Amino acid sequence: MDEDWLDIDGSRGEGGGQILRSSLTLSLVTGRPIRLLQIRAGRERPGLQPQHLMAVEAAARVGNAAVSGATLGSRELEFRPQAVVGGVYDFQIRTAGSATLVLQTVLPALSLAREASRVIVSGGTHNPFAPPCDFLQSVYLPLFNRLGPEVTLRLERHGFYPAGGGRIVAEIKPSPVLRGFDLLERGEVGEQEVRAIVSRLPLEIAQREVATALAELNWPARSGRVEEVGSNGPGNVVWAKLVAAGCSELLTEFGKRGLRAEQVARRLAASVREYLAHDAPVGEHLADQWLLPLGLAVWQSGQSHVYRAAPLSLHATTHLEILELFLGVTGEVALSADGSTVTVRLRAGKAEPRVPPQIVNP
Ligand code: AMP
Repeated sequence: MDEDWLDIDGSRGEGGGQILRSSLTLSLVTGRPIRLLQIRAGRERPGLQPQHLMAVEAAARVGNAAVSGATLGSRELEFRPQAVVGGVYDFQIRTAGSATLVLQTVLPALSLAREASRVIVSGGTHNPFAPPCDFLQSVYLPLFNRLGPEVTLRLERHGFYPAGGGRIVAEIKPSPVLRGFDLLERGEVGEQEVRAIVSRLPLEIAQREVATALAELNWPARSGRVEEVGSNGPGNVVWAKLVAAGCSELLTEFGKRGLRAEQVARRLAASVREYLAHDAPVGEHLADQWLLPLGLAVWQSGQSHVYRAAPLSLHATTHLEILELFLGVTGEVALSADGSTVTVRLRAGKAEPRVPPQIVNP
């Protein structure tokens, strides 16, 4: 049965945690066993780190997988899933590793399962280099739910780097089929908000961030909000949320020691201006994250779909590579002054509609 195995070079493309997590996700959905080689080879601390191990463990529990090589620092991993079964899952990341990335790893498979699920993840909820919980709630999930599943996400406790200790809870009502759609227009931006949150730090930091960001963006005072939250350690995050009919965006900056609140706010304002300078609906981070669920919808139906996005990051092009490897789904990218138009379609000769085999026939 060795010919079933898919070998994935973990140093390809973006070469970080994403190729690992997305390979686990696609292995769960397709039932295809995978061998990951050269995991995070180019990184300062190569191999599996605690938060990647949690993603492996979470995927293994959801998919009843046989796993070898899941140890700290390991550069090779074998993962052979069996049936994906919905239910109540509680994943505890003991560090500030990202809870949202662990959730995203198992979400597509559980959204196609036969049973409903509740997924509780403890760890970091607001980490640099990962989607903050609010991004999933306001940007990713509204689109994901338009594919068919009904997923709600609650933030029960904030977890900042490095203390962690946050908690998110997702309720997943699955849908056996993901129905894709095109995403071409942002639509009118209605609600807009700048919100700064502090934990165990002076509230004044948040007030200065909000005041600076509002002034930079020329937004009215009523668009600003400061919040003090309880958490295991100090933390500060500030975001700008733009709610639009077609697709919303939530841009984030984190405060850190040595960086003045005004600088943090000016960085945020610059990324808002950059987002608004083009009219593509899908921002940089969503552009890579959206490829995976949309690719699955295209794989299931055989129908192509298009979205317009900011210029694609290396994370996005890495996603394109692994969608092709697992699903035979390609993404054609047309560049224009206004960003990228991505057409996701089944490669010629593979046009039969599909259902995930190991989910339907466990
Ligand atoms: P990796 O760097 O491989 O661990 O992947 C990080 C993932 O987090 C990618 O899908 C990014 O798009 C996503 N991400 C990083 N920062 C943000 C952010 N500020 N908002 C939303 N998503 C983010």
